[in-house]
Amino acid sequence: MSDYDSGDEPPDGGSSEPDDVFTYNGGRVDPGESANIRYGISETYLGDPVRIPVTVVNGAYPGPTVFLSAAAHGDELNGIEVVREVAHDWDHSQLHGTLVCLPVMNVPGFLAQERYLPIYDRDLNRSFPGREGSTSARRMAHRIFTNFIEPCDLGIDFHTSTRGRTNMLHVRANMSDPTVDRLAKSFSSNVVIAGRGPAGTLRREATDAGVPTITVEMGEAHRFQRTLIDRALTGVASALAEFGCHPDSSVHWPGWRTIIDDDDEKTWLRADAGGIVDMKRGRGALVEEGEVICTITNPFKEEDEVVTVEAPFTGLIVGVLENPVVYPGNPLCHLVGLSPDTRTALQRERRPESSQSEL
Ligand SMILES: [Zn+2]
Repeated sequence: MSDYDSGDEPPDGGSSEPDDVFTYNGGRVDPGESANIRYGISETYLGDPVRIPVTVVNGAYPGPTVFLSAAAHGDELNGIEVVREVAHDWDHSQLHGTLVCLPVMNVPGFLAQERYLPIYDRDLNRSFPGREGSTSARRMAHRIFTNFIEPCDLGIDFHTSTRGRTNMLHVRANMSDPTVDRLAKSFSSNVVIAGRGPAGTLRREATDAGVPTITVEMGEAHRFQRTLIDRALTGVASALAEFGCHPDSSVHWPGWRTIIDDDDEKTWLRADAGGIVDMKRGRGALVEEGEVICTITNPFKEEDEVVTVEAPFTGLIVGVLENPVVYPGNPLCHLVGLSPDTRTALQRERRPESSQSEL
């Protein structure tokens, strides 16, 4: 069975249950051991393997198996650093359970620094749970899903906004599933957007397959944003504490929280004119009904042609465009309504010093 170096005896005195061994097609990781794996999920035009990096940290003590995944969209980098730091910088000597760390799932997209799999622009995050004998994207998804997702008890999948936009750190979760609800609330995010998610997304398909999973959205593509990465690391530590993986750690309360349900006020405000956008309020700003969020102007800045975009209701700017050019119909910002209590808590938290640009 397993070797316990450095005298790390598990509580049962060394006879690990078979359940504590993490197995995948081609290998196993025993309790008290870690493994860095390059796992083949496809082949290139040259016949070389396409391999994803996977780190499995199997704790010396029994507990849940949790996956942390990132870069299902190849240019969404913030989550990669979150997963790498959890896997390689944290002390897991007291870990109860197993962490399955998948920092880069969409390797072809990552290499090209593109959102989609470069082959026919397929979206890996609409291809789960995948299928053998299907498209290239579904075959890759299948290898990832069967080996590293299905064996887990819980999961957190990290994303950023789409290129050209940015968003507050927030959780997306199917809150009708009690374990997903618990995981979402334990992540220490101010904003949780409730919903099942589109078919083929990792979080929806994993949850439907019995692995309760949340998505964490944070910031923008093509960047490492340190403040957001640190907030996400706090969220991971808090979630792992909630499920007993690090029993000496505690669950972190974010100060205020709003859960946006389907019937709550929320909208993507879209441009009704093409032009150049002057955004007045940023990610994480609280805006009042009727307040000007941005203006859209033509190249001549002609004043009688200025289009003014106002907040249709009082709310929080969760997502906002960064690339300041729009066609009619392009999204400008994602605005969600807040209850009076939440507004009060948010305003109280922000009174000492404004850090809105870092949310
Ligand atoms: Zn994404």
